[in-house]
Amino acid sequence: MQAQSVLTEHLLELIRLTATDLPPDVETSLRQAVEREEPGSAARGALEAILKNVDLSRQNATPICQDTGTPIFYVYYPLGWSTRDLRQQIRDAVAQATARSYLRPNAVNAISDKNTGNNLGDAYFPTIHFEEVDGDTLTVELMLKGGGCENVGAQYSLPDSRLGAGRDLKGVRKVVLDAVHKAQGQGCAPGVLGVAVGGDRGSSFYASKEVLYRRLDDVNPDPQLAALETRLTDEANQLGIGPMGFGGKTTVLGTKITGLHRLPASFFVSVSYMCWAYRRRRMTVRGDQVTYE
Ligand code: SF4
Repeated sequence: MQAQSVLTEHLLELIRLTATDLPPDVETSLRQAVEREEPGSAARGALEAILKNVDLSRQNATPICQDTGTPIFYVYYPLGWSTRDLRQQIRDAVAQATARSYLRPNAVNAISDKNTGNNLGDAYFPTIHFEEVDGDTLTVELMLKGGGCENVGAQYSLPDSRLGAGRDLKGVRKVVLDAVHKAQGQGCAPGVLGVAVGGDRGSSFYASKEVLYRRLDDVNPDPQLAALETRLTDEANQLGIGPMGFGGKTTVLGTKITGLHRLPASFFVSVSYMCWAYRRRRMTVRGDQVTYE
């Protein structure tokens, strides 16, 4: 088993990789999007600029976007690991990553308005979720979620009479498209939609972010949700919002949906919007072996 005491340097590498190198599935999707846009169009120009920036960031190990966002960790740990130690390792790595400029200092006290300067705030900043799992593999998933796209996330309580959205998947479709329409280019489109149906307000938003750890090219095992994911992506791309709101055919790169249990009295739909800087990476530790994907 990898000693917890040496984990900080591996976590630091996970943060560096996440901040400076877009995952292959996201980059492939952006490259395919360029080909769909008209030559000479503003949409194509925006996507080409994004991809140039992605290449430069990888070469120079500099952040893909100046807003390195909220670090959100999901930690799946084997029996016997201390979550208190793991939390400290993660916080140490985040502070070191900030000192090395892989992360911008982003933790601002909402009351005093003071920036801590090292990305360490309260227990929610960075956000860390823990779950104990079978086996002896430690898996750490990291997402860096930008502020602009976080601002255009939305939560709906169905039924919504204004949108004519009832408590079913047809209603879900209506409110998700409403969220995309309202976001326009402000979430730094093309984005990816994480959608949770059900839960309470807190668990619903939580799950809408967790689902964004899925790969863009995977298929939802639930055929109904798989069909809705495809339909929503296609319909969002017909809204004409386009990359950075410049118009065009590419408003979202994908949609990921999960369903939760709910109270009979409630039917929440939460939409987490992830920008084109879809920075998410996974670190796996098995014995002395550490891998990053
Ligand atoms: S929303 Fe995303 S792409 Fe836009 S500024 Fe924030 S991190 Fe960067």
